[in-house]
Amino acid sequence: MVLPIVHYNTPVLREKGAPVTAFDADLKQLGAAMIEAMHEARGIGLAAQQIGRALQLCVVDLRAAELDFTWQLDGAKPPLDLFMPMVLVNPQITVTPGTDDYIYEEGCLSFPEIRGDVIRPDAITVKFQDQHGVPHELTCDGLLSRCIQHEVDHLNGTLFIDRMEKRVRTKLDKAVKELALATKAAAGS
Ligand SMILES: [Zn+2]
Repeated sequence: MVLPIVHYNTPVLREKGAPVTAFDADLKQLGAAMIEAMHEARGIGLAAQQIGRALQLCVVDLRAAELDFTWQLDGAKPPLDLFMPMVLVNPQITVTPGTDDYIYEEGCLSFPEIRGDVIRPDAITVKFQDQHGVPHELTCDGLLSRCIQHEVDHLNGTLFIDRMEKRVRTKLDKAVKELALATKAAAGS
């Protein structure tokens, strides 16, 4: 069964993820199940909170996206097919000094049909572990950087609506409230 993706305002979406300490078969299985759920939903990223687990774990796959971004993984530039889908465990982001902020319209699998402009820095470096516990360092920009920033926010209980400017957030207020009510009704049924 494909893991169901929880919608706003399910409480787990506001929980900070616990660090992953066991790089075992359960973790590999969870990573694979999250990748399956992300693909099923046609998303480019998914955080553990979105399948109901408050953990420092997310998955990313941008192979189907427009390749208008650059990346360097552990000092090399491997083809995306070699390292995606990616499982990022315990990721830590550092914004590249001097990089520009830019606006982009984001969506989120926990907010079906809701989209809005979010301002984020362009270039980042993310340090993370893979499913075997091996540390890696990825420097990237564009959509890959944005996707990772969005997912790592989830791991800390932060949602894209929190990052929106007030005028953007206000326009979505009705839809966000309706979603929260629908989620609550579904949980109670
Ligand atoms: Zn999201």
